[in-house]
Amino acid sequence: QQEALQQYKDRDAVTVDGTRVSLRANIGLLSDVAIAQQHGALGVGLYRTELPYMSRASFPDRQTQYEIYRRVVEGFPGQPVTVRTLDIGGDKMLPYFDSPKELNPFLGWRSVRVSLDHREMFQTQIEAVLMAATHGNVRLMFPMVTTIDEIAACKEIVANARQSLSDQGWDIPHVPVGVMIEVPGAVALADHFAKEVDFFALGTNDLIQYLLAADRANPAVSRYYDSLHPAVLSSIAQMVAAAKRCGRELCICGEMASDPACFAILVGLGLREFSVSSPSIFGLKALLSRLDIDQLTMMSQQALTQASGNHVRQLVDAMIGDET
Ligand code: PEP
Ligand code: MG
Repeated sequence: QQEALQQYKDRDAVTVDGTRVSLRANIGLLSDVAIAQQHGALGVGLYRTELPYMSRASFPDRQTQYEIYRRVVEGFPGQPVTVRTLDIGGDKMLPYFDSPKELNPFLGWRSVRVSLDHREMFQTQIEAVLMAATHGNVRLMFPMVTTIDEIAACKEIVANARQSLSDQGWDIPHVPVGVMIEVPGAVALADHFAKEVDFFALGTNDLIQYLLAADRANPAVSRYYDSLHPAVLSSIAQMVAAAKRCGRELCICGEMASDPACFAILVGLGLREFSVSSPSIFGLKALLSRLDIDQLTMMSQQALTQASGNHVRQLVDAMIGDET
């Protein structure tokens, strides 16, 4: 089947009526670069930088990070590569990093909160990302932001990193800065955040667990973790509207975007930028090529009014069939 889908590699992701979307890749390790290329990904919508940190015995220094990021950026000439700063804590611990034992790690000291409490480490990473930006089209993204103060603090560190590099003779190009929207409280502040950032990325893996109070990593509650729960769709719709109102790009990089049924709903909700797991790209293009945007829009509007994720699933299955 994957062979039959190979024809989609160099094709655009477009509906019957000509509505185009961008399919970029979620990557973590250097080996993911080749896989993304083989599937015709239009750059990287989410580079999880903690993966190279996790596979080491100690913190990589600036030069080491720069060399890794540079190789990723050079893998996608002319295409955007969105580099997310360290997102540790919760499900991703570093063996050499002293983390407190917490009762609720996902509600605790994780992600950008850790970075902001370790400014030297944070600035080092940002410097390495800015250095890599001299080799391509880099964008910088902060995870799990919940307050405007965090954005200000992150931007101050970016400014310090730029200054320090410039003092060392580096000529760093403009690098767009964005935040991930993955906490329900951040959705409500999108208009304020938009004044401070160039783009948004929807992190639905976390957004779903926080909206539905269902740990993303706990099999005992996996049936409560429902990507098509109408409350999830409603939050996404709210973000689409906010991004449009504020003229900011909105990409979705949670795993749900790689699932055909969810993808159909997301396109219908108005999303046009996707970052997905590379092996899903051909199938999503094939699916899109037989759908019509007006039908998708109508279906997604109906989905928003449903009583449960199962009702939404029935709606979307009726439209896309069982082929996927
Ligand atoms: C997300 O939360 O949706 C996301 C893309 O980030 P991660 O899965 O790395 O937490
Ligand atoms: Mg996340």
